[in-house]
Amino acid sequence: MRTLAFFVAIASAHVPTCNAHPAYALRALVVRLPVAPAGRSSYEAAARVSFVVVTTQRAHVPAGNAALRDHARGHDTIALRYARDSAGTVTAIRATPAAAARALTLAIAQFLRQTSSELQREERLYDAVTSDGATQDEGPRYGFPGGPDATEPCGRPFGSRARPRLPSGRN
Ligand SMILES: [Zn+2]
Repeated sequence: MRTLAFFVAIASAHVPTCNAHPAYALRALVVRLPVAPAGRSSYEAAARVSFVVVTTQRAHVPAGNAALRDHARGHDTIALRYARDSAGTVTAIRATPAAAARALTLAIAQFLRQTSSELQREERLYDAVTSDGATQDEGPRYGFPGGPDATEPCGRPFGSRARPRLPSGRN
């Protein structure tokens, strides 16, 4: 049993499987501003929050396959764009400075969770509208990166995600 497990580990480490669908997570960079009075008996804590993209699953695309390379780069472009556009200020108002600071910490965590889950949804939508690269030219219609259509699947079967109806505001 141990030998078999060892074999499997070695095999997976040395044979990179094709993957045109890299995955990303967001890390929050937080700059807290001084807690300030907000009205007579309340205090506002605020922070500027920006996001850094961390790769959690790398792309492995056959060299020279421009279509798969473009599809994988599209995932990257979406993550970077989403991280950039999601930066903003988070605030919390409470009765005491300490309570405002605590509430701000929770609000920042919630902002990160929400932004991360929206990014995952965008990446899934990108795979859905491009059929995992098979209809890559459809991307721009939805505001996503485009490129040549891939002729062979890489990482998962073509069209593994149900194609959504055109969302409102994307046409
Ligand atoms: Zn993909």
